[in-house]
Amino acid sequence: NYRCRSAFKLLEIDDKYKLLKPGFNVIDCGAAPGAWSQIAVHRVNSTGANGEFPCGTVVGIDLLRIAPLDGAHFLSNHDITDPVTHAKLLELLPGAQAHVIMSDMAPNASGFKEMDHEKLITMSLSLIDLAEKVLQTGGSLICKYWDGALAHELRQKLSAVFRDVRTVKPKASRKESSELFFLARSYRKNKIV
Ligand code: SAM
Repeated sequence: NYRCRSAFKLLEIDDKYKLLKPGFNVIDCGAAPGAWSQIAVHRVNSTGANGEFPCGTVVGIDLLRIAPLDGAHFLSNHDITDPVTHAKLLELLPGAQAHVIMSDMAPNASGFKEMDHEKLITMSLSLIDLAEKVLQTGGSLICKYWDGALAHELRQKLSAVFRDVRTVKPKASRKESSELFFLARSYRKNKIV
């Protein structure tokens, strides 16, 4: 039983691209109510339920309160764009490193499409700063965005630090919504500026 229907989008993406593996450390940005974290807990084996596989870590962050979940650490009432949150993440992650950063974050929709688009792009750009602090070389990032004029800029910035960046539209995402995901893989820590 998933806490939210958004679960099906991540299941679809991860079934295809196999980003979440046992033993991995995962950051779930905009985690409330917690469905993506439920999937991550299961797939990285963070409860150690499967004794044959390594045990991973899941840390979820949200501005809202997230109800406790076995196998996940939650930073409720935290803003992912805040450097204070980044510092706490570094402490919670074994070896201060993540294999995967995933973001289903969305600002409260104002109803003005362009403004919402810009807000979400700005929030997503902050994930690149977070990656620089915690994402290990070769790591990946999944990031929701609403299509619009600035999507190109986000894609370019991702392409500067990830070898492979593509757009993904899961079937579980409503056709009429402008919601898309960037899937960025093979993070290169030592980028050339
Ligand atoms: N993936 C979640 C799940 O499966 O349960 C659903 C996420 S919901 C679509 C988007 C969430 O992003 C909201 O709970 C919202 O509070 C959160 N959010 C928006 N801006 C944020 C920010 N700056 N920092 C942390 N969370 C944020």
